[in-house]
Amino acid sequence: MKPDSSPDAPAGHVAVIGAGIVGAACALALTLAGRRVTLVDPEPPGRGASFGNAGGLSAGSVLPLSQPGILREVPRWLADPLGPLSLRWRYLPFIAPWLVRFVRAGSARNIPAQVRALRQLNGRTLDDYRPLLRAAGAEGLVHHQGHLTVYRSRDALERDRAGWLLRRAHGVEWHEIGESELRQMEPALARDYRHAMFIPENGHCTDPAALVDAFVAKVRGDGGAVLRARALGFELADGRASALVTNAGPLVADDFVLAAGAWSARLTRTIGDALPLETERGYHATLANPGVELARPLLDGEAKFAVTSMRCGLRLAGTVELAGLEAAPDWRRARRLLELGRRLLPGLPEREQDVSYWMGHRPSLPDSLPVIGRAGRVGNIFYAFGHGHTGLTGAAPTAMAIRDLICGREPELDLAPYRPGRFRQGMQT
Ligand SMILES: Cc1cc2nc3c(=O)[nH]c(=O)nc-3n(C[C@H](O)[C@H](O)[C@H](O)COP(=O)(O)OP(=O)(O)OC[C@H]3O[C@@H](n4cnc5c(N)ncnc54)[C@H](O)[C@@H]3O)c2cc1C
Repeated sequence: MKPDSSPDAPAGHVAVIGAGIVGAACALALTLAGRRVTLVDPEPPGRGASFGNAGGLSAGSVLPLSQPGILREVPRWLADPLGPLSLRWRYLPFIAPWLVRFVRAGSARNIPAQVRALRQLNGRTLDDYRPLLRAAGAEGLVHHQGHLTVYRSRDALERDRAGWLLRRAHGVEWHEIGESELRQMEPALARDYRHAMFIPENGHCTDPAALVDAFVAKVRGDGGAVLRARALGFELADGRASALVTNAGPLVADDFVLAAGAWSARLTRTIGDALPLETERGYHATLANPGVELARPLLDGEAKFAVTSMRCGLRLAGTVELAGLEAAPDWRRARRLLELGRRLLPGLPEREQDVSYWMGHRPSLPDSLPVIGRAGRVGNIFYAFGHGHTGLTGAAPTAMAIRDLICGREPELDLAPYRPGRFRQGMQT
């Protein structure tokens, strides 16, 4: 594997494992800081979770998924395979330890620190993306129009009120929008959606896959490389990694960034870090010719899915399915999104032609926070994974922190809430 496998690879070579949005953003930030980067992925860049997400740059997404009382919901998840959150019976024995941690993470005592940590990371998204977008010539892919969460009934909005107040308490500005203003903002919205909350600071990306492609193209243009190979482990000596072991041979580098999304824990285990990483599978339905255009992403506050006008059409995305990395997709979930989308936007066509369906693996830790920081036992391996529902949002802030760690600078982010060691025995989650 020339030139990267040569034992005398020049100092400052970083191998980034995983070419999703997190790996691509890390690779670009490191390239701009003068490092030579090799991205390693068995698939073409941006074909994992980063391909089909809803495109939300959600600075105001600060609520962890696990909340007090969540345990009572589990029977409902098992009973309704098409509900917003479902759990496959067959997967229950495998996911049980993660679920226990997930339920524990959602205690009233833990929530404020998780909200603070999500706010710290996601709140920086547009600022931290700016230099990356400029360098990659991709500014046209990102827009700043806010997000609207819409409800049909006041009761439904009131059920979420505590969450809205928690957001405000952590610095997320939002406005309650009246019916006539809502019509003006989004004329395509169905008449029975009468209530909405608007978060002005949120942005969105109109082509998440193209964003990854643009970052990777810039890395390549500045002397970096992409290696189509699967990482299998590390060659270790004296508490450091000297090479990445791949199915195409060893790759020598000075530092290693593990950004393999939902697959990352397979590699951390090889160096003694057992991290409780699961996948929350999500689906999308994208209509190439929707006949409807939105000014900004809409979130259905009751059915819990997002709709975004993209370059490729209108995308309905969301839902959580707990069924692991291997089970076949349940496409009924994606079709259900289409039905719910027609309830939200009655102008959508009835026919199913020009609709593409997709399933992706969100990488999720029980406390809804990613892992960002140095590996427990190996000084030159850095973790950057586990961003769950907001990995597009968190990618640029994560990349800045990883760049600073590798370049020996103090990151602006306080990385303590995301430390890999937080799940060791005796920790709260
Ligand atoms: C339906 C849905 C909607 C979403 N909407 C939003 C949203 O609106 N806003 C938001 O911020 N986030 C959203 N997300 C979440 C977001 O998409 C993810 O958090 C994010 O894409 C994770 O990026 P990643 O780079 O960590 O992982 P991925 O994009 O999955 O990339 C991981 C990469 O690692 C590679 N890999 C795996 N194993 C190996 C190996 N052994 N060696 C080398 N490479 C390997 C994979 O091939 C893959 O390319 C959504 C997710 C879903 C599913």
